[in-house]
Amino acid sequence: MELKEYMEILKAKGLKVTQHRLEILRFLDRNRTHPSLEQVYTYMKEKFPSISKMTVYNVIDSLIENKIINSMRFVNSTELHVDFETDTHFHFVCSKCGHIYDIDSELDLEKILKNGGHKADDYNLNIYGVCRKCLKN
Ligand SMILES: [Zn+2]
Ligand SMILES: [Zn+2]
Repeated sequence: MELKEYMEILKAKGLKVTQHRLEILRFLDRNRTHPSLEQVYTYMKEKFPSISKMTVYNVIDSLIENKIINSMRFVNSTELHVDFETDTHFHFVCSKCGHIYDIDSELDLEKILKNGGHKADDYNLNIYGVCRKCLKN
């Protein structure tokens, strides 16, 4: 995506376009590896040496609250992780290398839940195991 598109995303949600917000969006768009808050902070610190952890976390919070980015927790990490992809998808977490893969699901969870008489507001599925790269080694 281009800078202009990130600006449009922010404006569409009524958020002020700031350097910090643009930089975090660009970082997450280019690094679809579900970085932890700490990793985002490390990146931002390089770009803006005087930035505080609090500022970075607040910027991330505003993006999560406005559903511009997604956040999730994994059992093998105490930290919150963030994802530029906000469409419903599942995650496969490798217990060996720690890589988090996006998994497109063919499963119609909405339908499954509806059949059970439930109404889903949100869902989040993490699958844990060993990834194809680690299986080869
Ligand atoms: Zn792996
Ligand atoms: Zn993801």
